[in-house]
Amino acid sequence: MTIKQRQWQLYYLGYYGGGIDGIWGAQSKAAAVRFQKEHALDADGIFGPLTIAKSMEIIKTIQKEITDGKIAIDGLAGQETKDATAQWQRENGLTPDGIAGAETRSKMLQLPAPEGDDWWSGIQYFSRKEFACKCGRYCNGYPAQMQRGIVELADRARGELKGAGFVSSGLRCSRHNANVGGVSDSRHLTGKAVDLRIEGKSARQTLAWAQRQPEVRYAYAIDTSFVHMDIE
Ligand SMILES: [Zn+2]
Ligand SMILES: [Zn+2]
Repeated sequence: MTIKQRQWQLYYLGYYGGGIDGIWGAQSKAAAVRFQKEHALDADGIFGPLTIAKSMEIIKTIQKEITDGKIAIDGLAGQETKDATAQWQRENGLTPDGIAGAETRSKMLQLPAPEGDDWWSGIQYFSRKEFACKCGRYCNGYPAQMQRGIVELADRARGELKGAGFVSSGLRCSRHNANVGGVSDSRHLTGKAVDLRIEGKSARQTLAWAQRQPEVRYAYAIDTSFVHMDIE
C-alpha cells in the first residue's frame, strides 16, 4: 500500500487532517497512532500490515453499507468511496463531508429501524444492535430483521428473571451461520431465534422459564449459561 493510500485510509476514517502528499510525517504518524490505539493495535505510528488489514476491514464494512453497486468493496478509501459516503450521510441526516468518522460509523452500525419497526422503542432492555449478525465481514450485521415476537420474549426473560441479559447470537447471515455450525434452516437466519444468557441464572433455570412461554417453539441449553430459544 502506498503512503498516499495509507493517508487516504486515515483521512477517510476521520483520523488525519493533513494533505494526501505521500510524505509520512509527524501528522500522519500521530493519526496512525490514534487509529491503532482505538483498535487495539501496536501504537507504533507505522502503518504496517496489521494496521492496513484493520483499516481495510472497517472500510469494507462501510462500503458494503453505502454501495449502490457503483463502488468497489475493496477496503480502499478514495474519492469514489468518499462521494458515496457523502451521499449516505445526506440521506441519513448527517453532515455530508464524506468522512466516515466516529459519528457516521456509529450511525451506520445502529441503523435506524426500518419503517414499521417502531415496536423497538417498547423494548426495555435490549438495543437492535445487540441482535446484529456477529460475523463482522460477510454482511452489514442485518441480513434480515429481528422479529418482534422473539425480541419481546428476550425482553420479558430479562425482566422476569431479573438479571442482565446477554445475546450471543441473534441474526446470522448464511455464511456466519455455516461457520458457527448452525443448521441450514436455522431460525437465526430469519430473525426468529436468540441465544441468550441471563446473569445469575443457569441455563437450566432460563430454559425452564422459556419452556413455560406459549410462543416458544423450541428451546435448548447451549452450555451451562446460554439458552437458544426460537419462535414459529
Ligand atoms: Zn453476517
Ligand atoms: Zn440459537
